Amino acid sequence: MQYFIDVILPIPIENLFTYSITQAESDFIKPGMRVAVPFGKSKVYTAIVKQIHNTPPVIYEAKQIHQILDETPIVTTIQLKLWEWMASYYLCTVGDVMRAALPNAFVLESETLISKNSNITINDTDLKDDEFLIYEALHHQSSLRLQDIVSIVDKKQVFPIIKRLLEKEAIVVQEEVFEKYKPKLVKYVKLQSKHTTQAGLQHLLEELSRAPKQRDVVMHLFQLSAQTKKGIKVTDLVEQSGTSTAVVNALVDKEILELYHIQTDRVEFQGEVIADSKQLNEKQAEALSQIKTHFTNTDVVLLHGVTASGKTEVYVKLIEQIIAQGKQVLYLLPEIALTTQLVNRLQDYFGEQVAIFHSKYTAQERVEVWNNVLNNSSKARIVLGARSSIFLPFQNLGLIIVDEEHEQSFKQFDPAPRYHARDTAVVLAKLHTSKVLLGSATPSLETYFNAKQHKYGWVEITKRYNNVLMPDIELVDIKDKHKRKLMKGHFSDRLIEAMADTFEVGSQVILFQNRRGFSPIVECNTCGHSPQCPNCDVSLTYHSYRRQLRCHYCGYNMAMLVKCQACGDTDLDTKGFGTEQVEEEVKVLFPNVKVGRMDLDTTRGKYGYEKIITAFEQQEIDVLVGTQMLTKGLDFRNVALVGIMNADNLLNFPDFRAHERSFQLLSQVSGRAGRTDKQGKVLIQTYNPYHNILQQVSTNNYAAMFKEQMDDRYNFKYPPIYRLIKITLRHKDFNRVNTASNWLGTALRQVFGDYVLGPEDPLVSRIRNQFHKQILIKIPPKQSLGSTKKAIVKINNSFMNIKDFRSVRLICNVDTY
Ligand code: ADP
Ligand code: ZN
Repeated sequence: MQYFIDVILPIPIENLFTYSITQAESDFIKPGMRVAVPFGKSKVYTAIVKQIHNTPPVIYEAKQIHQILDETPIVTTIQLKLWEWMASYYLCTVGDVMRAALPNAFVLESETLISKNSNITINDTDLKDDEFLIYEALHHQSSLRLQDIVSIVDKKQVFPIIKRLLEKEAIVVQEEVFEKYKPKLVKYVKLQSKHTTQAGLQHLLEELSRAPKQRDVVMHLFQLSAQTKKGIKVTDLVEQSGTSTAVVNALVDKEILELYHIQTDRVEFQGEVIADSKQLNEKQAEALSQIKTHFTNTDVVLLHGVTASGKTEVYVKLIEQIIAQGKQVLYLLPEIALTTQLVNRLQDYFGEQVAIFHSKYTAQERVEVWNNVLNNSSKARIVLGARSSIFLPFQNLGLIIVDEEHEQSFKQFDPAPRYHARDTAVVLAKLHTSKVLLGSATPSLETYFNAKQHKYGWVEITKRYNNVLMPDIELVDIKDKHKRKLMKGHFSDRLIEAMADTFEVGSQVILFQNRRGFSPIVECNTCGHSPQCPNCDVSLTYHSYRRQLRCHYCGYNMAMLVKCQACGDTDLDTKGFGTEQVEEEVKVLFPNVKVGRMDLDTTRGKYGYEKIITAFEQQEIDVLVGTQMLTKGLDFRNVALVGIMNADNLLNFPDFRAHERSFQLLSQVSGRAGRTDKQGKVLIQTYNPYHNILQQVSTNNYAAMFKEQMDDRYNFKYPPIYRLIKITLRHKDFNRVNTASNWLGTALRQVFGDYVLGPEDPLVSRIRNQFHKQILIKIPPKQSLGSTKKAIVKINNSFMNIKDFRSVRLICNVDTY
């Protein structure tokens, strides 16, 4: 009898590949284990075993595997099923899915280097024989390749040994850089309370008359305290009083001053549960009970609750019940980097049962979470993560929460698999026979439509927690303001006035300006030329901070020009405006307030977001200027005013979802105002105050928005009525991509007729020197999705068989966004 395994390779090939194994290996190997296999002329890949059988491949002779990499499967059978579904639904290969699913550290390739962990001394007696051999070899050689190790221990199965050495911290895998995060404590200082009375202070100053330096510091501290309600940082005190920390410390020793810390970054968690979950109010309790009733006969429920209605607390109650049954919960969020607040909230309630799966975590941290989930460890009962956490190896999943389900960042854009995490979550839950709760204040039309069709359960909360009124939204007509000369820069008199009022009472302001892409471009006032990216078909945008021109598509940058590249004139102007400019203008309008900015530029790095969010939370910043990032479920208590600098560029975006998205974005940003006690105020500046969407936003009328948008989608044949598949073609030669896309368009039209649109140029038709064309296929409600896709795959295959087209990149995006 011969033995074979079919494996998934982490490369985009259509079929599984078959390898031969020995009988002994066949006893050991199980689906979901990793094996190292040779492929092509000289490559070695980490592959995942899909199945074991006795049938040799017909076309080729099966090679032998190099090594078995695991002792037990690291991928579950449910995951293998999910991968298969994703590949077939999103028209990609299982290898694409595998690449996206496994943490990189699992896909060890032959280049991986192992070296000794110099931080730790290991006793030879703690090592088994084969472990010792490797460890010994590392005394003589700084690093070893996998192949070296295979020959040292003379075994195929070296991974279990490496794994044990890693666990004993004897070795390190070199690609992985450990990066342990230390919370940053900021030191604050105050007078000890016995000195804070009038008499106490008097006495103190007399006492210090012989120590003028110390006396000076106390005086400064007193002055600073009078200026602000916030705490005083030691660094500020030292700077303001022109002294040294030694003087401050001397005062602390004398028990005159007292130091205290506030933790600014709180990712690292100490492990205790510090709060009970909150008692739900009547509306929340009713919503919870309705959700549970729906779950008895449906798998997916939409919780449609206005901003600050307390949805999170409802989730928390459900989570408590699920984990009490010993099951796991997946809590999906649009962007994990923005979740410090939520992480803190959940950790307060659930302690170390919360695991976070973070795209910015190191390889090692991700492996850790993977293993905890796989082992159903108590350290990963609740997994909080962005879209890629649907790939974790859940054992006993009871519930998936998709928070802010309308967010487009749940859809992966590039590379394949171009999946939607919300939709994939529904499939994943089915495989586990578990439930899905979708939450949003502004549901996607897709989800709301499903709820209306009774495909999903549907629960509403229409009031904010504490009955705080929904924000008062006022539309400011900036066309009129311009005409009457009531604008200063991009600020209307109305907005300036409202900001001044807000600062007056010590509250905070959020200013929203649409995404970076709309930051200023440079235009020559003489000839009208504006500098273009040499690689992409877009204008470069101006970043005043570095005095640079940058391309947002490929990262190309150059120093700001002194004169026009076309005519040589020096009269250059910046058009359009971005967050940076808003920030500058605020500084001029209100020189005494502190401005912070949150956009892609200011939030780079692992803890970029947290720093800004924490500073705003602790009221070190009075105004936060930001892009879409601001919209994502943040809960600031002291924000009384939200200003939207310009609503029009959102509304005018050329996309069939632009209006839906504008409604969601504007409602969500508005929702940041007045969340806990007083009604908040929102000012939306626009050239078009009578636009239906703006009217609907200002009256918080989701239903009207839904109805109107659905009419459009119906008439123009768009989702959620029709489904969309977008095919993009890419090549560096314009003529070739042109011919190829015409061929493909014609072929598709023969099958799908008028439901094929294009080929046409996308919004940006050249990126990184590649020309793009796109074709859209609309799928009517009654047409089978499966057979449609089969037809597309068939046509794509004939396309690939045409010699001239083979080098053209063909990309399918199912349910495109
Ligand atoms: P949503 O998720 O709907 O936007 P949140 O759950 O963030 O709303 O709640 C808004 C605010 O109200 C938060 O500051 C939260 O702490 C508070 N809150 C919500 N529910 C309760 C409750 N049952 N008891 C006390 N405070 C609550
Ligand atoms: Zn570019």
